[in-house]
Amino acid sequence: MGKIRVTFREEDIRPARLMDEADKAMALDIARLLSRRAEFVRVPCPACGSQAARPLFSKNGFHYEQCADCETFYINPRPSPPVLAWFYANSATYDYWNAHVFPAAEERRRKVIASPRVDRLLALCDGLAVPTESLLEVGAAFGTFCLEAASRNRFKRIVALEPTPGLARTCRQHGLETIEQPFESYGATPPADRFSVLASFEVIEHLFAPRDFLQAAHRVLRPGGLLVLTCPNGQGFDIQVLGTQSDSVDHEHLNYFSPKSLRKLLMDCNFEVIDMGTPGRLDAELVRKKALTGEFELAADGFLRRVLIDEWDRLGPAFQEFLSEHGLSSHMWMAARSQH
Ligand SMILES: [Zn+2]
Repeated sequence: MGKIRVTFREEDIRPARLMDEADKAMALDIARLLSRRAEFVRVPCPACGSQAARPLFSKNGFHYEQCADCETFYINPRPSPPVLAWFYANSATYDYWNAHVFPAAEERRRKVIASPRVDRLLALCDGLAVPTESLLEVGAAFGTFCLEAASRNRFKRIVALEPTPGLARTCRQHGLETIEQPFESYGATPPADRFSVLASFEVIEHLFAPRDFLQAAHRVLRPGGLLVLTCPNGQGFDIQVLGTQSDSVDHEHLNYFSPKSLRKLLMDCNFEVIDMGTPGRLDAELVRKKALTGEFELAADGFLRRVLIDEWDRLGPAFQEFLSEHGLSSHMWMAARSQH
């Protein structure tokens, strides 16, 4: 796999000047979701199905448990599927991102996020001789990835599936073929024309039942079709160091898989994993920022202070490189082929 080296900082994808308002929208969302706490339901481990879990921590009124068998941690009890559908259809955060953050950051997001994803996806298609007939993106959001993929002129058909109304409207305005529907209902039966590639970025961690999602992905893909996912790695650096202080640990992220547990879930759903990595670039910077603002306390003379603060210029980039290279970043990528 060709190495993708694009340097980027948090500012590129989440401009600081917009984040105060985004935080207010998020606080509204959290209160709204908790208003239906009586409808939250308990679930077994979303990766392996084990009932053996221990309490991990709580944050903003949500309780997290960790699977004793596969280390996945997850919100439990969690909002039911109808509560989640209601929550996302009326999300203040998604409205705000659609109106402000995505437009302001779109060019940079396309360059530093979407473009490397398309590169890696096409390299896989070429390396494995996966036909580039059709591409479905599930959770297309602002449509940035679909537009970048379209610009390469490799896929004959590109479809954006986006259930949030405002974002679906944006996808259509961008000229994309758009399906405004939850994926679980779209994928309940195989479509007449199944897809050769399905991509879904930062979606599976939001879902009540990831296994149902992967089973629907299997129905929607042709035999041998390629599935590409990204999501947080719950065993990665910034989540493991910061715990509840990590911005990745939030009310929307119900599932925190590890490379191992996501691989097992994919295998259980008849996928063969062919590419796995943790291409995240922000772990060290995220922990450094929390330490600099005082939100998180690094030991005064400890190892991490040396790497992340005292000798940041010399050690920080190499340290992030090490995390990314060795499966230790909190952002992971997995690609798998549909088996029959
Ligand atoms: Zn488990």
